[in-house]
Amino acid sequence: MRKFNFSSGPSVLPEPVLRKAQVAVWDWDDTGIGILEHSHRGPEFTALCERAERLVREVGDVPDEYAILFLQGGASAQFHMVPMNFLAAGATADYCVTGTWGQKAIGEAKKLGQVHVACSSEASNFAAIPSADEVHWSSAPVYGHFTSNETIHGVQWAAPPPPPPGGAPLICDASSDLFSRPLEISRYGMVYAGAQKNLGPSGTVLALARKDLIERGSRALPTMLQYRTWASDHSLYNTPPTFGIYLVAEVLEWVRAEGGIAAMQARAVERASLVYDFLDQSRLFHGHARADSRSLMNITFRATTPALEAEFLAGADALGLANLKGHRSVGGMRASMYNAFPVAGARALVEYLDEFERAHR
Ligand SMILES: *Cc1c(COP(=O)(O)O)cnc(C)c1O
Repeated sequence: MRKFNFSSGPSVLPEPVLRKAQVAVWDWDDTGIGILEHSHRGPEFTALCERAERLVREVGDVPDEYAILFLQGGASAQFHMVPMNFLAAGATADYCVTGTWGQKAIGEAKKLGQVHVACSSEASNFAAIPSADEVHWSSAPVYGHFTSNETIHGVQWAAPPPPPPGGAPLICDASSDLFSRPLEISRYGMVYAGAQKNLGPSGTVLALARKDLIERGSRALPTMLQYRTWASDHSLYNTPPTFGIYLVAEVLEWVRAEGGIAAMQARAVERASLVYDFLDQSRLFHGHARADSRSLMNITFRATTPALEAEFLAGADALGLANLKGHRSVGGMRASMYNAFPVAGARALVEYLDEFERAHR
């Protein structure tokens, strides 16, 4: 029996997609060759790449001025690739730091050039997203970077920060909320996401980047580190993660059939409201994030004592509510519920929370 998997990533994938992939691993689309075995230069795979790109454009509503890139190295590789491409010597890049991932992003940029902290919520242990007037861009940054959803701390920007000055591009790590809500792509120079949260398997990164920005990137870099290489070869400069691209295409096909991003957002709101509504009235449990900064994807919460948390987690496991343990930097519990996570799983969690609280009055 499959469990309700609250893992923060790799995470739950749509069941029809997994069933279809099972068949495709053996014999993909009656080609007589499994998807893992197809050449990335063959006509079948070339057609798949075109389909994947079309699906990203259609489902994500991404205009032609943006290139669609399937990158490697995880979202973490973008932490250095972004400054290597766009942070020239003598220039400054600005970062909004709202959790562990923002810290990692600025940490890599610091090794490569000059950075400015435009805002930070570290003082609250990253329980809150700064308001628009708490974002202080430097006078002429080359870009402003932020993390739309902090997976570990469970905080999410309701809207992107105000635009950086001088028309500098906003660059967003959207690893844990891309395509879970409508994306106003025109506000961004670039958005990137590791696939393993809402989009597919780990090891594949989807990036949407304005073509003119890509062209401005440094040419003094190894080939694989320049975005233009990925843009001009449609992510096929070297052997791509073929299975990852296949699965992202299938997941997006599923998103489209389920009603698109609007439907994903409605489900996210339904799931998260069930849990937050319970936490708000609970005397035993409380959320980590401030109410106006809460994530719809990752719900971080604590019980009144560590002993109760341990007991809660052991009981959850026994019920098939898997991977609810929080990250050590926040402690307690974390329920990650991405696009493919069923609303029934959120209901099962709330039922267990309620039962646990009644038993510990
Ligand atoms: C998971 C995650 C990452 C890291 O992704 P990797 O693919 O493991 O490198 C980066 N940023 C955010 C917001 C994440 O959730």
